[in-house]
Amino acid sequence: MNGKTVMACIDAAHASLKGHADEIASLDQAIGDGDHIINLLRGMDALTGMRAQIEAEAFAPALKLAATKVLSTVGGSSGPLFFSMLTGMAKTSTDDAGVDGFARAFAAGVEAVGQRGKTRIGSKTMMDVLIPVAERFTAMADALASTQDVLEELPRIAEENMLATRDMLATKGRASFLGERSRGHIDPGARSSQLMIEAVCARLAQGDA
Ligand code: ADP
Ligand code: MG
Repeated sequence: MNGKTVMACIDAAHASLKGHADEIASLDQAIGDGDHIINLLRGMDALTGMRAQIEAEAFAPALKLAATKVLSTVGGSSGPLFFSMLTGMAKTSTDDAGVDGFARAFAAGVEAVGQRGKTRIGSKTMMDVLIPVAERFTAMADALASTQDVLEELPRIAEENMLATRDMLATKGRASFLGERSRGHIDPGARSSQLMIEAVCARLAQGDA
């Protein structure tokens, strides 16, 4: 795991978000202000523009570098939240982290998002995907699961929990202004987080990053 790994994951997440841009825009138009995908793609484009710098770093500094760029380019509610995710991960990760180290780093990132957004599970946000994934990741690492099993399981957990946001009542963020009318739509941040998790797992499963 190094800056090249980080950039390979960014590329994978970027491609997936681009491929689902219209869908994410519609979700945020339904229960937000429609800018979530624009915010994310602006950040992804900025990260792509600093490829050489990110790739030259070790794992944690590459995450920190990416985090700073995300903070200055993404905006909205999600910019500071993804910044917290990346810096939270960077604090606990080391270059030679295996499944166990990476699970702890991911959990620390999710914890940082929770502190920043003052949200846990059930508010119809990205946390409804991030928390269950972090919990399963930690449990699998504790059970000494193989990397391959982890990379197959986490996207399943992410998808199941992303879909579950459809019936939830939003109590945080812009969608909460809609009250009961927020039900019946998947949360855009849950969908974007799930897509990024799926893309990153698929990329890591390919190896050579
Ligand atoms: P904004 O709502 O300011 O327009 P974005 O459109 O970029 O910001 O992001 C919206 C997404 O951010 C939501 O779909 C939700 O998943 C997530 N979100 C909003 N508030 C919070 C929060 N307090 N904690 C966690 N996630 C949140
Ligand atoms: Mg928005």
